Amino acid sequence: MSKLIVTVATTGAWPTKDDTPYVPIDPPEIAEEVYKCWKAGAAIAHIHVRDDEGIPSMNFEKFEETVKLIRERCDIVINLTTSGGIGFTDEERMKPFIELKPEMASYDAGSMNWMHQTVFMNSPEFLEKLGRKMKENNVKPELEIFDTGMVYNTLYYLQKGVLEEPLHYQFVLGAPGGMAATTENLLYLKNLIPKGSTWSAFGIGKMHLPILFTTVALGGHVRVGMEDNIYYSKGVLAKSNAEFVERVRRIAREAGREIATPDEAREILGLKI
Ligand code: ZN
Repeated sequence: MSKLIVTVATTGAWPTKDDTPYVPIDPPEIAEEVYKCWKAGAAIAHIHVRDDEGIPSMNFEKFEETVKLIRERCDIVINLTTSGGIGFTDEERMKPFIELKPEMASYDAGSMNWMHQTVFMNSPEFLEKLGRKMKENNVKPELEIFDTGMVYNTLYYLQKGVLEEPLHYQFVLGAPGGMAATTENLLYLKNLIPKGSTWSAFGIGKMHLPILFTTVALGGHVRVGMEDNIYYSKGVLAKSNAEFVERVRRIAREAGREIATPDEAREILGLKI
């Protein structure tokens, strides 16, 4: 089994300071938290930003400041969101990675009903444009898969030349409107992707741990962080995202898997440095 790449998603679009006072919201807080997670063993940081009121945002200046502060502190692989939340324009969604050239950015491989409230739009036109812009800018897509059909979308775009091998998948399990976070679903998805692809997974909320254990056992990579789960254990808020990273380290050690450094992650994922 390859070394285990830990992605940390410190902030996401949803948790507020009312949900947990420990979620980092402004650029200095996010950068400091990413740095702590890097010290704990995270190789990739998946970045969202918020506006001054803490509302999900695709504000370019916030991304710019966050990326700059992270790059000053450590060599973690930066992965910028291209959704940011719901309802941003295509241009707002793509500008941060076009301008800031992170090594990775998320690619949500299809549309879905979101939380039974609205539609998370990733139109065919957008997915095509997004894939081509990422290729032009040497940004590796992290293919976020919320449901089975999204895997087939990626195969279509691979055939069309919009995406390039080796592909890297992130299975997002347990989002209301998407696939449930079960070990059967994880195994099913993992077996659909092209040979030679890499994959990572996480379960949202209370299914975080069963999906984490299964992923480590199956040889996948993992994502942790407050974007997906604010509790360390039942009723106990995590005081830092680094607590989640440290837990993965311990689990991986017991499972006989080593943690990948950022440079090792670059090699495993075939990032163009
Ligand atoms: Zn995200």
